[in-house]
Amino acid sequence: MRIPKNQKKYCPFCRKHTQHSVEEAKRRPRRQDTRSQRRFLRKMRGYGSFPKENPKGREKPTRKTDFRYKCGVCGKKHTAGTGFRIKKFELASEKAGTKASKQQAQGKK
Ligand SMILES: [Zn+2]
Repeated sequence: MRIPKNQKKYCPFCRKHTQHSVEEAKRRPRRQDTRSQRRFLRKMRGYGSFPKENPKGREKPTRKTDFRYKCGVCGKKHTAGTGFRIKKFELASEKAGTKASKQQAQGKK
């Protein structure tokens, strides 16, 4: 699925619709100082029972998207709630998403 790189969206900081640029959220290392992470590390030290693993053998074929929308006016980033399930996506500029992609799709067929 092609997702336009520039979208007109509502900016909660400007309180109006502005031009936004879309980017995927970066994967960052897990924070070690959150309450749940401290609880997990305490458990991993070995006292009490071992934490349960996630159930295996039924991995999902799709992942949820996690986009960050950057406002073109104020430059602040915000999310748009929970993402949607999608197998594959591509961030494309608007002009490339109209004519060129259609020609490419026709060429592949
Ligand atoms: Zn803004």
